[in-house]
Amino acid sequence: MATPLLVNIVELLRRPGTIKDIEVLIAVADFDFADERIIDVAVPVTVHLESLANGVAVSGNAQAQWHGTCRRCLKSIDTTLTVEFSEMYQLVLEDPDAFAIEQDQVSLLPMVRENILLALPLAPTCRDDCPGLCSQCGADLSEASCSCTTDVTDPRWAVLDTLRENLTKDS
Ligand SMILES: [Zn+2]
Ligand SMILES: [Zn+2]
Repeated sequence: MATPLLVNIVELLRRPGTIKDIEVLIAVADFDFADERIIDVAVPVTVHLESLANGVAVSGNAQAQWHGTCRRCLKSIDTTLTVEFSEMYQLVLEDPDAFAIEQDQVSLLPMVRENILLALPLAPTCRDDCPGLCSQCGADLSEASCSCTTDVTDPRWAVLDTLRENLTKDS
């Protein structure tokens, strides 16, 4: 079986300004993510290649399904991550971030893989304004508000309150 996303670019290298567009579905297994957050659903990848004088510019996007846990309410999250990328491939590596062109081919799979893994959120939330759980009773505040008072009495203030009461009594 051919290596996915290994693209022959002989035509592109012949003349700067030549473009090539690719749209493929890549099996998760082909990426070998080694990351349990990625769900086993094929990843659509769209790539636009354009040859320049000093290499090939590669841009596009990929969509991966992933699973996580909201760090605020602990609900499980199943969602789609869309990653946009824009990279350079060069025969002679001038740009330190560029990928190598080897044997008239660009290997896009490791680049797409890297972009997906970097884009996975480290501390995901189920939604931007997730209120999380009540720190006192553990109620899920996105579903119901609880009756806990928000101002927890600090024991140090309780001492002052007692003192104040005594002073009031004395006067
Ligand atoms: Zn949440
Ligand atoms: Zn509560």
